[in-house]
Amino acid sequence: MSKRKPTPSKGKIVDYWVSYLNEFLPPIYSSLRSKEEAEWEKIKKEYEPEPPPAKVNDEVFSASRAIFRQSKLNTDPFLAKMSGIDFGEPCCWSCGYYSNPDETSWNKAKYLEKCHIVPAMLGGTSDASNLLLLCKDCHKESPDLKNPKYMKQWFVDRENFHNKGLKKLKTLDNEVLMFVFKNQEKFFEYMEENKGIHNSNREAITSSQLYAMIGFYEEYNLGGYMVSTA
Ligand SMILES: [Zn+2]
Repeated sequence: MSKRKPTPSKGKIVDYWVSYLNEFLPPIYSSLRSKEEAEWEKIKKEYEPEPPPAKVNDEVFSASRAIFRQSKLNTDPFLAKMSGIDFGEPCCWSCGYYSNPDETSWNKAKYLEKCHIVPAMLGGTSDASNLLLLCKDCHKESPDLKNPKYMKQWFVDRENFHNKGLKKLKTLDNEVLMFVFKNQEKFFEYMEENKGIHNSNREAITSSQLYAMIGFYEEYNLGGYMVSTA
């Protein structure tokens, strides 16, 4: 019997996927990022010792957002969900579950299991490219089929914080969305006053943004604030 190659550590699996996902970022994205950082450094120098709050380069941000929207990371549902994962802290890639005691290291996150995309029994390799990190429940629920298509489909369909938020956003009453849209400036002020620190992801709709829309609507519209009809 031939010896199977040992599976890579969880940390190595993370490293593989992070660099794989980075390959899909259009080169111009990273050049925009460095431009943005350079300008931020310039501003910081001018305002030393106390830099103004981060309000740099809307132009650069919207250009990079537009590029991101067309990239494979946004249009391929599997890669889109993968790119929404916060690889900075251990969590289940499928449902987003995380456990605080294991917060610091992927390798120490005992609740995470290495899950084959193509099952080992059906010829799947033990390379990082064929492995995902999932919690026990997700691992148990995931399909065991030879065609990786179904594993990826299941992965995309499985709810996590991000796609739950998007789903909720789609079912939100149009009235809420129209109200937020018509009163954007006021809404951004409301966000500034109410949000915590978990709003740094510029691409994903975070639950904070989502529930801020609902809160904004309830407080200002139902509370009697007049909708601008301009
Ligand atoms: Zn899970």
